[in-house]
Amino acid sequence: MSLRLYNTLTRQVDEFQPLEGNTVRMYTCGPTVYDYAHIGNYRTFVFQDILRRYLEYKGFQLRHVVNLTDVDDNTIRKSQAAGMPLRAYTDKYSAAFQIDRQLLNLEDPEFLVRATEHIGEMVKLIQTLVDRGYAYASDGSVYFKVAAFPHYGQLTQIDLSGARAGARVDTDKYDKNDVRDFVLWKAAKPGEPFWETPFGPGRPGWHIECSAMSMQYLGETFDIHSGGSDLIFPHHENEIAQSEAATGKTFVKVWMHSEHLIVNGEKMSKSLGNFYTLRDLIARGYKPSAVRYLLASVPHRKPLNFTFDGVHQAQQSIDRLRNFRFRLTKESFPAGTSTVLQARAQEARQKFEAALDDNLNSAEALGAIFDMVRDGNTAMDHGDFCDGDRGAFLDTLERWDRVFAVLDDNDHAKLVKFGLIKPSAVAAADSAAEAGKDAMGLELGNGQPASMLVETLSDEAIEKLLAERTGARGHGNYARSDEIRASLLNAGVILEDTKAGTRWKRK
Ligand code: AMP
Ligand code: ZN
Repeated sequence: MSLRLYNTLTRQVDEFQPLEGNTVRMYTCGPTVYDYAHIGNYRTFVFQDILRRYLEYKGFQLRHVVNLTDVDDNTIRKSQAAGMPLRAYTDKYSAAFQIDRQLLNLEDPEFLVRATEHIGEMVKLIQTLVDRGYAYASDGSVYFKVAAFPHYGQLTQIDLSGARAGARVDTDKYDKNDVRDFVLWKAAKPGEPFWETPFGPGRPGWHIECSAMSMQYLGETFDIHSGGSDLIFPHHENEIAQSEAATGKTFVKVWMHSEHLIVNGEKMSKSLGNFYTLRDLIARGYKPSAVRYLLASVPHRKPLNFTFDGVHQAQQSIDRLRNFRFRLTKESFPAGTSTVLQARAQEARQKFEAALDDNLNSAEALGAIFDMVRDGNTAMDHGDFCDGDRGAFLDTLERWDRVFAVLDDNDHAKLVKFGLIKPSAVAAADSAAEAGKDAMGLELGNGQPASMLVETLSDEAIEKLLAERTGARGHGNYARSDEIRASLLNAGVILEDTKAGTRWKRK
């Protein structure tokens, strides 16, 4: 089946084919690196990752650009408040973004680019717009002349000539000829970072950043551009105007937007203060894989309501999938194969692919896999599952997980790697060294100290105790076996004895 994607520009689901050959050229607007990204932002980034992974699953090559907005009003204001140079300040949050991406299993794009490293391209693009009569200078700033571009409003599909004329499209207090005009280049204000250009010293407007960077890496016309639905207007509308006015060509074929992550009926956002960062959730004991699962579980064109219970349920769903995979690989089954079960695994594969082909309907794709897991478990419980059936089920699971990427239990290892959990040995050494001091350790997110997340047992220590327990049980020493189970539970490790052997997981 072919992939069909909803295009904000055409307002319909269109069959997707790359413009050229087998390569999909895609640009996704990245974060403004003035703070930790919140999980609302990650809802959009996880959707974009599902899109990316499914395009790869379908056999397309990717040429994907993600940008970092590292110069704008917010980054400048916050770096000044912190008393740090802009670059040092944005470096901190760019690094945090990179860590979050790995925690959430977001695949690396082919290009992760910073706005401040592409100023030359932006200036060139603005110059073209001035030369072609689409832009004008005023008080050292340069504006896009919306009246000169008759297609303005094609993405938003509202008539901006009359109704919106009084609305402020851009909050900056610069002089424009028409309220709809938006800034391409901002004259330097005292104390702000600036670049010297033919228009005078200043810095780029936010919209021109994405036009310049996307076209530099992907060409004047490319396949997919995406972001959260709050970017449709004015950001993406303005990107279209700037790019098409400069090139005279269609800028982007398919525009894709995700609906918001909602908390108590409102969009999760920095300005409302109703946000959680990934680190906040980790500090509360939730696993990154559960957050990824939750964010991926609702199709991108539907709003997603965030609750802690939702993350908890996501964790349980992942456990169910992992348990099934554990049974598939470890349990013994009678020899042979069952044509019915083989067909069942095939059917699940076809269903999840059909769901994702339908504008990435992730909820249906999940449903298809859980139906298969239920039937597989039932067959195993009834003794109908055969040794030769493992492969077909494992294959469907593995394919599904190429897109959803939640089956491997690597949260703990990554949290240790990025210093978000202190391994027990390090923690013990630290606490000895810090005895007598009142150091609280690294601050996480909303002020939750990282020292809350000291691991009590390493993976190796758990495995060792588990081996000892298996030995004790082998010798009929159930008292010792129970003792080990209790002490592991005390350390937050749950054991589960199954026909396929003992599984452990962290709470
Ligand atoms: P920003 O860092 O504000 O430029 O946002 C980065 C991305 O996150 C953009 O694609 C936004 O549309 C998206 N975004 C912001 N808030 C939310 C939210 N509550 N739910 C989903 N996406 C969001
Ligand atoms: Zn953008």
